[in-house]
Amino acid sequence: MGYVGRFAPSPTGPLHLGSLVAALGSFLDARQHRGRWLLRIEDLDAARVRPGCADQIQHTLEDLGFLWDGAVEYQSRRRALYDEALQALERRALTYACHCTRRTLAESDERAYPGTCRDRPRARGAAALRFRVDDAETVHFTDRFQGPSSFVMGALGDVIVRRRDAIVAYQLAVVVDDAQQGVTDVVRGADLLPSTPWQLLLQRALALPTPRYGHLPIVVEPDGAKLAKSRRSLPVNASRAGRALIEALQLLRHPPPPDLWDEKPEVVITWALNHWNPANLERVQKATAPAYAP
Ligand code: GLU
Repeated sequence: MGYVGRFAPSPTGPLHLGSLVAALGSFLDARQHRGRWLLRIEDLDAARVRPGCADQIQHTLEDLGFLWDGAVEYQSRRRALYDEALQALERRALTYACHCTRRTLAESDERAYPGTCRDRPRARGAAALRFRVDDAETVHFTDRFQGPSSFVMGALGDVIVRRRDAIVAYQLAVVVDDAQQGVTDVVRGADLLPSTPWQLLLQRALALPTPRYGHLPIVVEPDGAKLAKSRRSLPVNASRAGRALIEALQLLRHPPPPDLWDEKPEVVITWALNHWNPANLERVQKATAPAYAP
């Protein structure tokens, strides 16, 4: 089977430096393997989706010289697929209704969901649906960039697959979509590394294939903190597309030579394709953004 990669942005803001790094890493990896590269808009959380952002992200990607294969998929149009998967989990008694509210959970000291509703009978009223994990299980996998990883499921807890407001949760949707779209290689930000064990267990429960995973460094502020909101809401400036790509490549530990700094996106992308080497990313989970904009 050939390589199928994907970029799956949530349209809650414009494409910023952090998401550009994820887009570029997955794009280069797919193209270097002569694979397909899909674009999927993860727009299930209607309250957080900003009108126009999905289109804006696509335009920015085009301006930067990224071409995706096939039609863009929108998760909001794929509800039937998710419902089928939820039913399959329910039939196997792998889910249960959870009536805990954010407030009751915030009051507990546990970092992971403590399993409060696991063995309770279903009550009336709105409930989230959680996927049951085996606390004693340790999930091992080898990340292409981060190396061997293992997670004890008891430390992660049972994950929500359908929210209390009936919105299908990311963890379920991503597993269904990656399988349905034939994705063989997931390349994305290392903030999603701890989500991978849930996704592997959901694939097993739903008898879906498991893709290879490669987690790229996430972009942080010079003090190590999460990228500031002001920067996340700052779109990549398409009029300096080449520069945005240079910055993203520097963060991905593939610094292009200075004579490329003022080149057009096509030239920078061609250089990057010729130099893409996943070994440069070995165990790099964080990349520090320059102190100045963007
Ligand atoms: N939609 C997710 C995000 O924007 C990415 C999910 C994924 O790549 O699995 O962070």
